[in-house]
Amino acid sequence: MNLVLFGPPGAGKGTQSKILTQTRGLPQLSTGDMLRAAIAAGTPLGLASKVLMDKGALVPDETVIGIIAERYDQPDCAKGAVFDGFPRTIAQAEALDKMLAARGRKIDLVLELKVDDAALLARVESRIAAGGPVRADDNPETLKKRLEVYYQSTAPVLAYYRGQGKVKSLDGMAAIDAVTREIGAILDGMKV
Ligand code: AMP
Repeated sequence: MNLVLFGPPGAGKGTQSKILTQTRGLPQLSTGDMLRAAIAAGTPLGLASKVLMDKGALVPDETVIGIIAERYDQPDCAKGAVFDGFPRTIAQAEALDKMLAARGRKIDLVLELKVDDAALLARVESRIAAGGPVRADDNPETLKKRLEVYYQSTAPVLAYYRGQGKVKSLDGMAAIDAVTREIGAILDGMKV
């Protein structure tokens, strides 16, 4: 099964993806994690992406499409994957559909985590107040920019998948385990 976890930055996509990896054996394909790994490794792709990521902008479509295709061809994706933070533009969604079709696969389900912006900002502020380790892009100014980019470039991807009849929406403001249970119930009710 190939799943897309969809929602604004901070909605809990990463948390739920990791749980799905544990409970369903589907690897989490997070373009954000892959890009941060490239930055940590000091690769040219990482260096070029860092500037954009630090200011909350998207990296170019070709960059993420390339790293996703390479990652998807690893043997652990034989039964599918959870896409986390990808696709973020219509061009990426189209490229993903093409890539999967070329492998005789498809996206089976898009889970939308619905949250409100004020709550996302409050979450960032409480992470900072708690003094824990925060990412370079985890601050109120960058989050505002990332939300802007989300509404402008990423939210239209939802309409793309709605057109394919694949979207199920969930309350991302609910407690983590409540969201996990709801996702579990949706997956258990599917034929794939
Ligand atoms: P994330 O960890 O998913 O929140 O991603 C962190 C940052 O990485 C984003 O703000 C973007 O700069 C970049 N990024 C991650 N995934 C993508 C994507 N699919 N398309 C473009 N940029 C991305």
